[in-house]
Amino acid sequence: MILEATKPGQDPALEQEFNPWLAAEARFNEAATLLGLDEGLQKVLRTPTMEVTVYIPIQMDDGRIEVFTGYRVQHSLARGPAKGGIRFAPDVTLDEVRALASWMTWKCAVVNIPFGGGKGGVICDPSVLSQGELERITRRYTADIIEILGPERDVPAPDMNTNEQTMAWIMDTYSMHKRTTVTAVVTGKPLDLGGSRGRPAATGRGCLFVTLQALRKFHMEPSQTSVVVQGFGNVGGNAARLMHKAGMKIISVIEYDGAVYNPNGIDPVALDAHRKATGSITGFPGAEDIDREEAMFLPCDVLVPAARENVIHSRNAQKINARIICEGANGPTTAEADRILQQRGVFVIPDILANAGGVTVSYFEWVQDRQGFFWNEQLVNGRLEEIMVNSFRDVVSYAERHNVHNRCAAYMLALDRVAFAIKLRGIYA
Ligand code: GLU
Repeated sequence: MILEATKPGQDPALEQEFNPWLAAEARFNEAATLLGLDEGLQKVLRTPTMEVTVYIPIQMDDGRIEVFTGYRVQHSLARGPAKGGIRFAPDVTLDEVRALASWMTWKCAVVNIPFGGGKGGVICDPSVLSQGELERITRRYTADIIEILGPERDVPAPDMNTNEQTMAWIMDTYSMHKRTTVTAVVTGKPLDLGGSRGRPAATGRGCLFVTLQALRKFHMEPSQTSVVVQGFGNVGGNAARLMHKAGMKIISVIEYDGAVYNPNGIDPVALDAHRKATGSITGFPGAEDIDREEAMFLPCDVLVPAARENVIHSRNAQKINARIICEGANGPTTAEADRILQQRGVFVIPDILANAGGVTVSYFEWVQDRQGFFWNEQLVNGRLEEIMVNSFRDVVSYAERHNVHNRCAAYMLALDRVAFAIKLRGIYA
């Protein structure tokens, strides 16, 4: 489900602040300057490798023909094939996909997996499309970008409003064109089609692992920890479930159509069952309904924004009442809000670290597909934990050593790794 980002309205300042590509640039510039990165390398790293726009004609169920716009951006291939999800949403823009593609490059570098970064998007509203229409959009989009896909070139995955089924269609379309079954062309597939155990919950599980590390750092007990989760989809839903299981108290869950609150804790499994039965998290017997805005500003130990970009911005960052923010979503905090949170001493676990669990298990899936040898869930989760814990330590110790905030440290680490790969490879002419 789509959790609406706060709309900038007519305010040109917010319009700028909410542009994800400008936000990505701001973070990039800060880290590149502090690293003293060569100007030429900065140019390379700032510019996507390839951007493709396709116009997808689709016959709708009622016989009409509609044309949808799709994008695939490959930001960097320096450290390996492009890796990153495909999102379906009515307000997808090229700037957004471009920013998300660059975040994938940095994310893969932060957790040190051998991928570059990419992202795709199709402008459509899945809530008004039938399964058949979604399938046709997915297949035609795949066919139209097929030259730039491949297990060694660009490996998509699910993102907002896409799922296992979408990945199965992409895998099938690609395989039909190649006349051979190529499971490693996408990750996040169903288990029976070369998917990995542990992939669906991986992003949420990664959030749990880094949050536990942050709690340890501040000598906080999980059982004494209150959590507010914004977004109850794949990321927020699994993060809430796993944090609850780890003993933390989920005091509020916020969705696009309302929020629920219980200071004594909400059981996310029961909340999910309630939503399945009624279509909404509101009216849940185990909690009271509260205002969504109010819920965002509840005093809590951990806030997990796990929905969309720009939910924490210059106009509301002052009101955030969390000790720790674990960014399950991509880009939930604007660059302006970063500064405010920093001044207020909020410990931010930045998106390119906090939500890297998804792409990490995507990497495991790709490895398993290429080997044709599959791991059990314990092995997947154990290896995920190792990577998330080590990456958390790398970022936080880098931040402390260089006296920068966590996001900047994550960017600096990532930029340095990607720049080094480019230096080693050299510039082909
Ligand atoms: N869409 C997810 C992300 O933003 C996963 C990407 C992947 O697994 O390739 O990290």
